[in-house]
Amino acid sequence: MSTENNEKIVAATWSGPLTAPKSCPKKADVVIIGGGIVGVSTACFLAKQGIDVVLCEKGHIAGEQSGRNWGWVRQQGRDPRELPMMIESMNIWRELAYELGEDVGFTQGGCLFTANDDKEMNSHHQWLETAKDFELDTRIIQREELAQQLGSSALRWLGAMYTASDGRAEPHKATPAIARAAGRAGATILTSCAVRGIESAAGAISGVVTEHGTIDTSVVLCAAGAWTSYFCRSLGINVPQLRVRGTVARTAPAAEILAGNLFDEKIGIRRRQDGGYTVAHGSTLDHSLTPSTFRFTFKFLPALMQEIKILRLSIGRDFFDELALPKRWSLDSVTEFERVRVLNPDPNPRVLKGIRKNMDEVFPQLADVPIVESWAGMVETSPDVVPMIGEVGNISGFYIATGFSGHGFGIGPGAGKALAAMLTGADNTIDLEPFRLSRFYDGSPIRPMSTI
Ligand SMILES: Cc1cc2nc3c(=O)[nH]c(=O)nc-3n(C[C@H](O)[C@H](O)[C@H](O)COP(=O)(O)OP(=O)(O)OC[C@H]3O[C@@H](n4cnc5c(N)ncnc54)[C@H](O)[C@@H]3O)c2cc1C
Repeated sequence: MSTENNEKIVAATWSGPLTAPKSCPKKADVVIIGGGIVGVSTACFLAKQGIDVVLCEKGHIAGEQSGRNWGWVRQQGRDPRELPMMIESMNIWRELAYELGEDVGFTQGGCLFTANDDKEMNSHHQWLETAKDFELDTRIIQREELAQQLGSSALRWLGAMYTASDGRAEPHKATPAIARAAGRAGATILTSCAVRGIESAAGAISGVVTEHGTIDTSVVLCAAGAWTSYFCRSLGINVPQLRVRGTVARTAPAAEILAGNLFDEKIGIRRRQDGGYTVAHGSTLDHSLTPSTFRFTFKFLPALMQEIKILRLSIGRDFFDELALPKRWSLDSVTEFERVRVLNPDPNPRVLKGIRKNMDEVFPQLADVPIVESWAGMVETSPDVVPMIGEVGNISGFYIATGFSGHGFGIGPGAGKALAAMLTGADNTIDLEPFRLSRFYDGSPIRPMSTI
């Protein structure tokens, strides 16, 4: 057991002092906007190939989603379009600590989606077809086998879908470790360095304007997480993206009641490397209505219908805050990206109460274990809950990688490898066509095949 149980170890990733970079390079082959797992993984793969890459992060590395997530690294339950990239990602995760020379807390503890009734069991059975197509080790286990893993807690369920090769890692370790490795490989990683916009000449990117100066470049990857839609809108590019707030808690170290990850309508729980558990409510996400909700309603209707039972909709300050934001801005003065260095929503106290109650009910063995830290993260999602990747807009050299929809941590390293190949024009073993932004505008049906 670790001694770190009562410190704010998750918040520490994104609440340290911000120091402006000493200098800003004048030029780069590639500039990446965003220091989440997608941005830093791409930077790492590019730098290893000798590409001169600069990554600009407005706040801290892993300050937003990549440092606040549940830490699940799963193949199970994904949309088939994501699986080739996810399987590649899993290969990378297995070797990651060795490659980086740093611990990232990765272990293959397995992933369980429990079934309360025949309906849930049937839907798990359906996903087995996908698992078979991709030769995954996913299988259905009955209550008796589940009890071998969970003891008497298993008796409440009929059984579960189980992927033994799925894993978990520590978000507060992984992304910063990849960023350090990228730096060692030659990437320039700038934190406290907001990108205000881009410059173009003759229809092509010519530079990136940061708060610390302009970087000449012909290739930009916008991996700005929950900010991508706002950033792109200023360039005349419509990226359908909405935000939902997820509330998360961390317990003190406790007995091992679970080796990996478990999801049920009451609880999402994973064993942590420090011996505690990262816990969330299994069926509550907050969405505060904003002008974007109405702008993109039509595209998000299928996802809204699918998630209607778990979404808690509200309207309040966020609506008016977004309404008041400029759609375009001067690149010579402070922008919203500098005003909000780290998107740090408050955890929802009602959800926290629900987490405590559900945890005690489902795992009575944890009833006396204190919650020692809680936080929230703003998940950004696309209309079909699958990422949007590729070159976009009318300015050549401008690419996006966003919309990882609540499951981008696990796939992040694989995405980074595929993105590096995309940006250098190298042969990509992963087909990125299914991720093109234009699928939302070319009449293709919008069908979410997984959940957030
Ligand atoms: C509560 C929660 C639970 C989750 N659980 C899981 C899970 O268990 N497993 C899983 O696989 N995924 C999970 N996810 C999703 C996962 O965390 C994200 O999909 C993933 O981290 C996205 O990575 P990213 O690099 O695209 O974005 P982010 O990590 O959000 O990084 C984007 C970065 O861009 C920066 N930025 C934005 N605009 C600018 C600008 N103009 N200039 C400079 N920098 C800028 C931001 O500050 C931010 O740091 C969860 C997410 C949340 C919030």
